[in-house]
Amino acid sequence: MSIQQNLRLVQDRIARACDGCGRDPAEVTLIAVTKTVGVEHIQEAFDLGLRHFGESKLQEALPKIENLSNEICWHFIGKLQSNKVKKAAEYFRVIHSFESESQLREIDKGAFAVDGLIEVNIGLERQKSGILPGGLDNFAQSVLTSNRVRIRGLMTVGPAMRDAELLRPYYKQLRELLPVVPGGRWLSMGMSSDFEVAIQEGATHIRVGTALFGSRG
Ligand SMILES: *Cc1c(COP(=O)(O)O)cnc(C)c1O
Repeated sequence: MSIQQNLRLVQDRIARACDGCGRDPAEVTLIAVTKTVGVEHIQEAFDLGLRHFGESKLQEALPKIENLSNEICWHFIGKLQSNKVKKAAEYFRVIHSFESESQLREIDKGAFAVDGLIEVNIGLERQKSGILPGGLDNFAQSVLTSNRVRIRGLMTVGPAMRDAELLRPYYKQLRELLPVVPGGRWLSMGMSSDFEVAIQEGATHIRVGTALFGSRG
């Protein structure tokens, strides 16, 4: 299937999910996740009207960003080492994966401001990135003082589940944690297989790769 057909299906799914819970689809930002996707396919998605794109590896993303329209709002969604964070702030407008104070201090030393989300390890998974829910209050307080990062809300990558419905309690919990971020409005949650559930639970940003560009193989 073409990207155009895939996009139509994704937009239908978003519309139906919003319909079912009385939300306006305009409240949900579709981030097209383009890891492993080549520039020509990203350009195709751009030409179809998409403006938000997400990448999870800095090295892979930089040449793509340099070769594509500066109208794109780039979202960094991967694990972010402190030594690369300044560069990320230069190229990305939103960083979804803040999980340490040192990341913010590095950005404060540089010249670029970004919107940020705190990544939460909502499933308490040993191998996963993110702040544990129990440590979130403290962390949120500690990042308020950054003068280059505006923390807008929370992000999570839910545990791998066979059935999207099983993610509902996790997404609900993330929404309930949002007030720890003063003035926080953004909830980045939901991927190709489960974004309807995320939307029903309040997602403002969904991160969709496979459903738009096909399997990464
Ligand atoms: C790859 C990735 C996605 C997209 O996953 P799909 O299942 O392909 O939609 C979303 N979020 C993060 C953090 C990712 O790394």
